[in-house]
Amino acid sequence: MPYKISVDHDACIGCGACAATCDNFKLVDGKSEPVKADVSELSCEKEASESCPVNAIKIEKN
Ligand code: SF4
Repeated sequence: MPYKISVDHDACIGCGACAATCDNFKLVDGKSEPVKADVSELSCEKEASESCPVNAIKIEKN
């Protein structure tokens, strides 16, 4: 898969903005996680990362 999505759990404050913006994020125990970490195409993940107040979402291109 060309893209890898990850969330820095130390930085994440569990505000839920990413999950509200993009259905590829969910909150688990007050922290965000990607539903699918490896994706062939980006959809809303970039918007979600821009919505994160602490820049906890990382999108890497493999
Ligand atoms: Fe965590 Fe950022 Fe998502 Fe808020 S927007 S839940 S801080 S990853």
